[in-house]
Amino acid sequence: MSGTHPTREEDFDLYALGALDGDEKAAFETHLETCADCKVQLADSYGRMALLAFSAPGVAPSPQAKERLMRQLALTSPGRGATAVELTPEPGGILARWWEVLLPLAGAFALASVLLWVHNQTLERQVADLRSTIVRQQAQLSQARDVAEMMSARDAVVVSLAEQKNQPEGTARVIYNSRRGLLVYNGHLAPTTADQSYQLWLVPTTGAPISAGVFNPASGETNSIVARVPPGTAAKAFAVTLEPAGGKSAPTGPMILVGPVL
Ligand SMILES: [Zn+2]
Repeated sequence: MSGTHPTREEDFDLYALGALDGDEKAAFETHLETCADCKVQLADSYGRMALLAFSAPGVAPSPQAKERLMRQLALTSPGRGATAVELTPEPGGILARWWEVLLPLAGAFALASVLLWVHNQTLERQVADLRSTIVRQQAQLSQARDVAEMMSARDAVVVSLAEQKNQPEGTARVIYNSRRGLLVYNGHLAPTTADQSYQLWLVPTTGAPISAGVFNPASGETNSIVARVPPGTAAKAFAVTLEPAGGKSAPTGPMILVGPVL
């Protein structure tokens, strides 16, 4: 057999993996000593096995070699184990086995580290997003709590606003807590033209009306305003006027809704 090339292509891969055993291995080595072609082919196999250990894409042992290796491993009994994978040092043999095990592990470890880092970056971004959402929601919750507390407070007054003669139809209600300087308006009014806005006013017992909000209701929708005025402001009435778009610092237009504080 020393004069003939190995008939099976996979012998080169198996030998490079250190998985060729017994007579096959001896015959292979005897032949190698005299055959330059097979030495080149074996060097090729070592190279491919090394690349395989690096998990380089597109490089794999021949399917036959894989199959035979699997078969050998499956057939290996405790008594024959030592012959299935020889531990005798041979050129490149041990190196190939070490790489086979350690390099993919190192590669997987590096990949896992990178993936963890990317995952961590993503998580940090999500946490930051969540934090700003929580801050926003806490502000909203705090305002909602203020409003709820104000509406249930004993010192809150409810003022009904009635439509005026020869003016558009509408209705509204204001809940006002002078101690807290907080008011909530809910009303129904027809939409304004583009160059006009409604404006809500607190009319104090003394002094000029205080603007409590400018609004342009959409058709058929309830308009809600939560406004803050100086705490302790005694109110005489609430009114809605029709003003130039964007509102004014003092009422100039017709009164649409008015409600006295009783
Ligand atoms: Zn040969």
